[in-house]
Amino acid sequence: MSDERGSSRSVVERARTVIPGGAQTGLRAQAYDLGEIAFSGATGTTLETVEGETFTDYHLAFGPVVLGHGHPEVDDAVTETIDEGVLYGAATTPLEVEVAERVVDLLPSAERVNFCNSGTEATYHAIRLARAYTGNDRVIKFEGCYHGWHDYVDVGVYPPKERIGEKHPESAGMLPEAVEHTEVLPFNDPDAVEAALEEFDDVAAVICEPIPHSVGCLLPEEGFLASLREATAENGVPLIFDEVITGFRHSAHGIQDEFGVTPDLTTLAKAMGNGYPVAAVCGREELMAQAGGDNTSGVVISGTYSGHPVGLAAARETLRLLDEESVVEEISALGERYREGLEGLFAEHGIEGRVVGYGSVFAPQFGVTGEPRRYEDVLRLDEATFEEFARRMRERGQFFTPNPYKRQHLSWAHGEAELEGYLAAADEVLGSMMG
Ligand code: PLP
Repeated sequence: MSDERGSSRSVVERARTVIPGGAQTGLRAQAYDLGEIAFSGATGTTLETVEGETFTDYHLAFGPVVLGHGHPEVDDAVTETIDEGVLYGAATTPLEVEVAERVVDLLPSAERVNFCNSGTEATYHAIRLARAYTGNDRVIKFEGCYHGWHDYVDVGVYPPKERIGEKHPESAGMLPEAVEHTEVLPFNDPDAVEAALEEFDDVAAVICEPIPHSVGCLLPEEGFLASLREATAENGVPLIFDEVITGFRHSAHGIQDEFGVTPDLTTLAKAMGNGYPVAAVCGREELMAQAGGDNTSGVVISGTYSGHPVGLAAARETLRLLDEESVVEEISALGERYREGLEGLFAEHGIEGRVVGYGSVFAPQFGVTGEPRRYEDVLRLDEATFEEFARRMRERGQFFTPNPYKRQHLSWAHGEAELEGYLAAADEVLGSMMG
């Protein structure tokens, strides 16, 4: 063991000898396509490698860092909480009550809240609650929607073109029985949902990302989410909105408030804690009460670290700032300017492509035009050109995922200087790519 940080390359080489793929997830390992980078610092909008090279961060750890890295009020709240005690676990705490009250105040669908530590846990709990409530097994989800890595939902997320419409498991080792109970439907197709609810009388839940950001940005067509609400209510099926990305990033009251559609259950994570591990499942009292200690149906929601003070202290401050300050308005307005700026550059340099996004999220996509409405509209994009764009932007100090299907994010720390830097770099890169 050495306490020297070494070079990025040496860290990555060591990682490859002890960590499968040399990173904690496949998507993180993909960042090595940009060069063998290891990070050791993050402040505001800046990511720093072990060598001290800096980048403006648009990855933002897949989105949680909504206020900017190391926001002082959030970090101070965490430090003060740790000073009082790290983990109690034996009973409730005033902190968890306060954060639950805030979530209930903010989200239209939240009457009761349970905390956990990841979006995957939250969607697992939501599905278990819905299955217990209905006594049914089948879950309906949509192509291009990611709800975490557990077996019930890691199906039909990114199917290859020839497997669209199938129940395509995303991982080896998944239980075929779990996949069997999951139906995968096209997003933005209300008729397909109605037909499925008619065909199957054992549906436990419909789960969707209200904006499927897991494939960049598929916006719901006018009336689609409302049609889901209506069809599920008519059939007595709980509707779950997975707001792990949209919740608190696009509105302090959830995208459900923005779109005027209230689901039965909502899952939250990412922007809720500005980078600290905290997540939640919340929803109607009747459904959530199944997890209460005095219940008879006995839905188990458990976890040694659920309601961990570190995540909750971060959530308390993050949600307070999102509620009291104009964070969402500011980052969304800035997002609009990134999209407009990139669209202008695409036009100026004669690039075939489009810039999709919503609020503080944006994604330049090459080789495709028009608004994407279905998962297959995303699949046709030009991967190689995006990868080249990401690589050259990185050489100019702009860091985002090299995955062409993902998205870039803004935080409250981003402003004029970052916008100017990004667009100047994009101007050079797009100009040279056309040259
Ligand atoms: N749901 C959505 C919409 C997500 O984007 C993600 C993660 O990216 C998850 C669930 C899973 O969250 P986690 O990675 O915290 O388990």
